[in-house]
Amino acid sequence: MRYAIINGYILDGTENMEPLQGKVILIDGKKIMDIVDEGISLNGYDVIDLNGQYVMPGLINMHVHLAGNGKPQKKQRDNTKLVNLLFSNPVTAAVAYRMVRNYAQIALMSGQTTIRTVGGLKDLDTRVRDEINAGKYAGPRIIASNEGISVPHGHMAGSVAITAETIEQAKEHIDYLKEKKADFVKLMITGGVLDAKAKGVPGEMKMKPEMIKAACDYAHEKGFIVAAHVESSEGVRIALENGVDSIEHGAMPDEEIIRLFKERNAFVTTTLSPALPYALFDRSVSNASEVEQYNGNMVFEGIIECSKAALANGIPVALGNDVGCPWVTQYDFWRELCYFHKYTGVSNRFALHTATQINARLAGIGDITGTVEKGKCADLIVTESNPLDDLKTLRNVKMVMAKGKLIANPKVRRNQTVDRELDQYL
Ligand SMILES: [Zn+2]
Repeated sequence: MRYAIINGYILDGTENMEPLQGKVILIDGKKIMDIVDEGISLNGYDVIDLNGQYVMPGLINMHVHLAGNGKPQKKQRDNTKLVNLLFSNPVTAAVAYRMVRNYAQIALMSGQTTIRTVGGLKDLDTRVRDEINAGKYAGPRIIASNEGISVPHGHMAGSVAITAETIEQAKEHIDYLKEKKADFVKLMITGGVLDAKAKGVPGEMKMKPEMIKAACDYAHEKGFIVAAHVESSEGVRIALENGVDSIEHGAMPDEEIIRLFKERNAFVTTTLSPALPYALFDRSVSNASEVEQYNGNMVFEGIIECSKAALANGIPVALGNDVGCPWVTQYDFWRELCYFHKYTGVSNRFALHTATQINARLAGIGDITGTVEKGKCADLIVTESNPLDDLKTLRNVKMVMAKGKLIANPKVRRNQTVDRELDQYL
């Protein structure tokens, strides 16, 4: 298909983007063929008239779990048991597959044209990725890690990560990821808010430094980069010392941590969405225990300070929202941009730039997507008003285009409870 997008304001995704008027975006197949001045002949094109709306690069969500819908929970689930049950027979395994595929499509409908999955069920992330790439159905571009690597009693062990008891088992999983053509490796190094049994230890070390080092070395040898779930300062330090390339979440930084980030050329993926409900909601709403609320607050503060320190020191910051955690739905990535602006003090412009061009670069696809630019993939979204004035306009995208495929009226079904509680924190 050939499209001409006319009569809109272009926000190109670059750091100093300003709404650009009077231009036509020409799309041929999957790519942006050119961006030219108004007035050329549009013969042979399907014309999309934006009527003064705003067009920008599709959003890139750097921290996604395709296994959860984000519904608030009354009490903690036993995820390991649930996953074992799901894959115990072909009928429920097929249900899991359809769920993952459906969630990926919801992400696309909400304007996320690329998602980076950091822990999934079996090989479903790469399977759905490959099917989307083969054109079997519409979906976002998926940068997939499949299951992460955890340790006995570690974070997400047995649900969206395998349980490696030995270094050998960790390596075997990396070999398996190579076979499945996964895009990177995810390690679960520390615990999380829900793993902690006592106040003040939300990011307890779980994986031994020897295993982190061996896994990172082996993954690098196989051509993978390594992302790691880390929620304590000690964890960040040990992760960086032993070869991790991206710290997912983050924790209270110090000078040593800043130095290590720079030395390793590593980046941090800021994720405010999963911690916010535990930290800021009344416990009667979040259903968190006192310990979980206390630790949620610690993690929330740690993530904010890590992000701010990284920004101040020229360390790259990616943005993701940890979809699948309670209160984090597949269609709400736009909220993470709002929080990034509100809690770290960056401008709306920088938040949008991060969720597009910076995320693309850090995901290793900066030459393919992330900006509205000649030669890039036609990954675009349209909003009614200017997101640089108010990011909330991203809540309802009016059009999505993924690799040149048009979705004219994207719709998602929203959870009213989630909206009502979270809207107070925008
Ligand atoms: Zn996560």
